[in-house]
Amino acid sequence: MKLIGLIGGMSWESTALYYAAMNEEVKRRLGGLHSARILLHSVDFHEIEQRQHSGDWSGTADILTGAATGLKAAGAEFLVIATNTMHKVAEEIETGSGLPVLHIADPTGEALTRDGVKTVGLLGTRFTMEESFYSDRLRRSFGLDVIVPGTDTRAAIHRAIYEELCLGKVTGETRALFERAISDLKAAGAEAVILGCTEITMAVDETNSVLPVYDTTVLHAFAAVERALK
Ligand code: GLU
Repeated sequence: MKLIGLIGGMSWESTALYYAAMNEEVKRRLGGLHSARILLHSVDFHEIEQRQHSGDWSGTADILTGAATGLKAAGAEFLVIATNTMHKVAEEIETGSGLPVLHIADPTGEALTRDGVKTVGLLGTRFTMEESFYSDRLRRSFGLDVIVPGTDTRAAIHRAIYEELCLGKVTGETRALFERAISDLKAAGAEAVILGCTEITMAVDETNSVLPVYDTTVLHAFAAVERALK
């Protein structure tokens, strides 16, 4: 089994879900007392979040490349960056550390394609929903049409991610916000929805979504196990 290099802490709430999902999947596949071989570098999210919101993306890349370089030196064989947003600088981290990155959009795109989805709604931080780094990869590599909520809903979701979900809070209001956003995406033509932020799974699942849900946290974690066992 390969040694997985996990960069987490963005937020730690979702990294805990990755850790559990990877171990559950290894147990499911290998049985007995098997568990995942993981090296985790968990960053101080405050330092990342401050730089994201001030536009210092190269500063975030430096911090995560430092973490990746340490993971490589300690024996990690590939990298899992446990956040959608920070894939904005995935290429810099890969190049800077020399460790291949398992891109979070790829297992998600593969699952959607396998299920015959053509038009998909994307929920995530403003960075993920509004910039091209994420949806372009889904378009280019998987031919998907990606649609996002309107401006006000995007702002409300962004706020809920940073001010609630990343702090481990899930209010009824936030659940309702996601439910409405998903209904609107369906009305706009989406056949499925990507939970394109690793904390959204805390507020949305198949039971409160009118669209089939593609949870990037679990898809990414399972893909990491697949690669580790290859
Ligand atoms: N975990 C979130 C994501 O998947 C947001 C936190 C971050 O900015 O990294 O995008």
